[in-house]
Amino acid sequence: MAQPVRPIALRKEGDDRLLIDWSDGHQSVHTWQKLRANCPCAGCRDEREKPPEPFRILKPAELAPLKPVGIAPVGHYAYKITWSDGHDTGLFTLEHLRQLCECVECSKK
Ligand SMILES: [Zn+2]
Ligand SMILES: [Zn+2]
Repeated sequence: MAQPVRPIALRKEGDDRLLIDWSDGHQSVHTWQKLRANCPCAGCRDEREKPPEPFRILKPAELAPLKPVGIAPVGHYAYKITWSDGHDTGLFTLEHLRQLCECVECSKK
């Protein structure tokens, strides 16, 4: 069986993105914005599925660009991202991260 693809190195690039080097040679690119918009936790899923409210008042967190303050591996299969607004319930599996890759090559698909 083929080895599962895993990240070898993670690093921040500039102020708004994350680069991940994978064991299959791929380098994935992730913007914080897209990662947060795809947060798989139940709270964020509910939030995304709610119909938009026309009179919703913007929360302070929506005004400032959100940034992760920490990324920690969870077992061998996921990363937990802690955000600048204190949100930390989203677990991004490795598979999910690969699907969210925004590199030129993956963006073409
Ligand atoms: Zn979330
Ligand atoms: Zn890619």
